[in-house]
Amino acid sequence: MNEKEVLTEKIRAAKFSCRLCGACCSGADNEVMVTPDEVDVLCKASGLSFSEIAEPYPEWMEYPDGTKITFGWVLRRGMDGNCMFLKENRCTVYASRPHICRTYPFMLDGEELIISECPAVGCSECLDAEETAYALLCRRDAEDAEFAESGKQYQKHSIASGSTVIIDSRGVHLWK
Ligand code: SF4
Repeated sequence: MNEKEVLTEKIRAAKFSCRLCGACCSGADNEVMVTPDEVDVLCKASGLSFSEIAEPYPEWMEYPDGTKITFGWVLRRGMDGNCMFLKENRCTVYASRPHICRTYPFMLDGEELIISECPAVGCSECLDAEETAYALLCRRDAEDAEFAESGKQYQKHSIASGSTVIIDSRGVHLWK
């Protein structure tokens, strides 16, 4: 069996079938990390700008000279603390949703399948196991590429002392 087939079997065995409860799109603990390419897709789908959709990943490295650096972006939240695209417990950008949303509650650590806590795991037959396996492999490729490119950008640029910046695969972005 190839990697996708092995993964499909593991996902099938997890017996996950989404109940559309919206829990994974809600609450302050659920950061939805997105690549710049994914934000572009959401911009097209929603008509909103990059900065209206994404904000810096909220773990900053802080230096004695006041410089602050973070890597990457997360989706903004609404006033209710839920993902800005969750309305009446439904995703309003479903066809354009990011990798992390397509693959929850699964993720890959190398070749290992990790299953996050979710009430829909272990419940019923997983009808889209093959599609989910494919989405997981695409997600891993996209995350690996984003990580590698962001590292190159970090090496390539000198960051002005005291500035607050976000580094992603496209470069170093000054933050207000
Ligand atoms: S983009 Fe859609 S699926 Fe992803 S967290 Fe937001 S509402 Fe949920």
